[in-house]
Amino acid sequence: MLPINETVRDLKPSGIRKYFDLANSMEGVISLGVGEPDFATPWHICEAAADSFKDGKTHYTANRGTLELRELICQYYQENFGVQYNPVNEALVTVGGSEGVDLCFRTLLNPGDEVIVLDPNYVAYEPAILMAGGKPVYITLTQENDFKLLPEDLKAAITPKTKAIMLNYPSNPTGGTMSKEDYAKLVPVFKESGIYIISDEIYAELTFDGQFCTPASFDEIKDQVIIINGFSKAFAMTGWRLGFLLCNAELSKQMTKVHQFIIMSAPTAAQIAAVQALKEGRHDILEMRKEYERRRNLICSRLNAVGLKTNIPKGTFYVFPDITSTGLTSDEFCMQLLEKKKIAVVPGTAFGVHGEGHIRISYATSYNNIKIACERIAEFVSELKEKEEAK
Ligand code: PMP
Repeated sequence: MLPINETVRDLKPSGIRKYFDLANSMEGVISLGVGEPDFATPWHICEAAADSFKDGKTHYTANRGTLELRELICQYYQENFGVQYNPVNEALVTVGGSEGVDLCFRTLLNPGDEVIVLDPNYVAYEPAILMAGGKPVYITLTQENDFKLLPEDLKAAITPKTKAIMLNYPSNPTGGTMSKEDYAKLVPVFKESGIYIISDEIYAELTFDGQFCTPASFDEIKDQVIIINGFSKAFAMTGWRLGFLLCNAELSKQMTKVHQFIIMSAPTAAQIAAVQALKEGRHDILEMRKEYERRRNLICSRLNAVGLKTNIPKGTFYVFPDITSTGLTSDEFCMQLLEKKKIAVVPGTAFGVHGEGHIRISYATSYNNIKIACERIAEFVSELKEKEEAK
């Protein structure tokens, strides 16, 4: 066989998959590994899609998505996050936030362009940058700074080759957030450098403490910002594969070209479901958020009580405790916890080298499962301590 593309060949499979596959091959495992809501999509949203089939709405839509959906998306951003976009030429409906990530890099990058990525970060960014011919450059985030991006680190990472920075707040895997005041410190650096700011806001609705802030809300840099968002997390719609991009008209036009040739248009039934979600789904978001917050409070207090130092995340459904007190590496911790206690979590290293010393725990599972899992984690940690003391 002739050789395939070298970048694709050299991509490492996601470090999350390995644990899923292992957990699935064992009986009785409680998984705190998954990155998707455990709630089913609210029924009124499903019904809207089902009705559309009866009405014969089974064709392509406009490449950008239906105008009705784009109008609702823009209205939603205006009402909830205070930023204005034109539904006609600044909004593009995508196949999940995932397509949005890919479109950004394909559209922006020339070979060798640098993209600043925060470490730890979501697993799909680095492969997307590499496949588009770019070069990821990392800024290390720390638990002491609550995993926030600091202006001095941003300044130091920017070079003449920097094309963009990839942000994701609230963050997968750390749960970290950035407030308006935090962003205000970065704005002069963004403005001066002129780099694109790609802001993955997929967890915006899962902000528990304080207000979600998008960097696009700063007028002086709004044109540099590309917002990635979608319906997966806020509305428990992962399987519908629907997201969107908001950015200035010229960039949006260029991204729409790529989208047109690789996707044509996002699934029609999913777009109809999303219209229903935006029209009538506000209370669903609020209810789910309340439940996630209850789980977060439980898991954080239990983990800190057993000596796994855990910042209380202000958003997402992940916690990112420090496990260094156990003397194990992230991978050892996860493997032993799975084998001995049948609890699946993900090593921090799946999200970048600076995830070492941490594990990612998802609380997108029932309150009861979290209780049991915390008890088993407590047993696991105290057995490790006893072993250490007996040495
Ligand atoms: N960004 C982040 C940070 C995510 O965690 C995920 C899903 N795990 C996505 C993007 C992709 O979401 P989707 O394609 O389902 O919209």
